[in-house]
Amino acid sequence: LKDGDPLEDHQITVCVRKRPLSKKEITRKEIDVVTMPNRDQTIVHEPRTKVDLTKYLENQHFRFDYAFDDTCDNQLVYKYSARPLVDTIFERGMATCFAYGQTGSGKTHTMGGTFNGKQQDANQGIYAMAARDVFLKLKSPQHRNKGLAVSASYFEIYSGKVFDLLNAKAKLRVLEDGKQQVQVVGLTERPVESMEDVLKLIQHGNNIRTSGTTSANNHSSRSHAVFQIILRTRQSGVPADRWKLYGKFSLIDLAGNERGADTSSSDRNTRMEGAEINKSLLALKECIRALGRKGAHLPFRASKLTQVLRDSFIGENSKTCMVSGEWGAGGWGGG
Ligand code: ADP
Ligand code: MG
Repeated sequence: LKDGDPLEDHQITVCVRKRPLSKKEITRKEIDVVTMPNRDQTIVHEPRTKVDLTKYLENQHFRFDYAFDDTCDNQLVYKYSARPLVDTIFERGMATCFAYGQTGSGKTHTMGGTFNGKQQDANQGIYAMAARDVFLKLKSPQHRNKGLAVSASYFEIYSGKVFDLLNAKAKLRVLEDGKQQVQVVGLTERPVESMEDVLKLIQHGNNIRTSGTTSANNHSSRSHAVFQIILRTRQSGVPADRWKLYGKFSLIDLAGNERGADTSSSDRNTRMEGAEINKSLLALKECIRALGRKGAHLPFRASKLTQVLRDSFIGENSKTCMVSGEWGAGGWGGG
């Protein structure tokens, strides 16, 4: 991808991001079967074998709004995917950014960056860069006198249930009122004043998320993590979490969309989890597809994930961005 200006206003932006081959994949002599020749094109070179055992590559072409190859860092990916959505929430809009893909495709790398102590700029993930820009914008002459306050929530959806990551994994109920407003009852919302505050909250939430699980990675890949940056208009005499909503940015590290593996597992729980994940990712796909068509029905009730994101999908000024993770390791086997 050549650096330039992000696309003009899109309601939905769909990107693909390819991670580099891992050391393991290189050791296994896997070959790179994904190329991205320009801004929006991806070619998958599918390894095939003819009946006479001749090996060849079959090319399949895919188009995206953006195709980020393995030379793109988080900063560049952010600029084209989530950065425009920061503007959306300052225009009273709702914004959602998803990281989608199989486990190991780079979702957490894209969203969270690397969380070992201090974050170096190039390693910062979308959470950190979005938070940084929210606070920068808040201080700008255009917005600093609007009485806006920033807060954040962090929760996960696991097996169709919602857990508060800022409150000891408390299980939360999702209610829909008569006006079809969806509410996550009792969800913690913490005031934040800086990017550092935000990163601390996420770190705290991540610790809670993986506490008590036998395999932290496994757990994370089987649940959706939803981090929200919320803008509200300050009101005197009213508790902060009841201030009028101005804009909301949901940043989501989705559960891995593993191909098939779960549904044939001998473990019943694993199969059920897998089925729940498939259901929610399918519902999400259908909602996003419906967003692109005026007046289309949004099947948001089909899963907890889409239900809690309903207000972000239906808003007049709502914008969505999907970063789909891929990698190019492939081959005919045997190197
Ligand atoms: P996921 O969250 O989708 O399961 P991860 O973000 O954990 O995947 O990525 C899997 C591995 O690949 C991690 O070790 C991560 O550091 C590495 N990785 C992912 N994307 C990149 C990238 N763009 N550049 C370098 N390493 C990456
Ligand atoms: Mg992950």
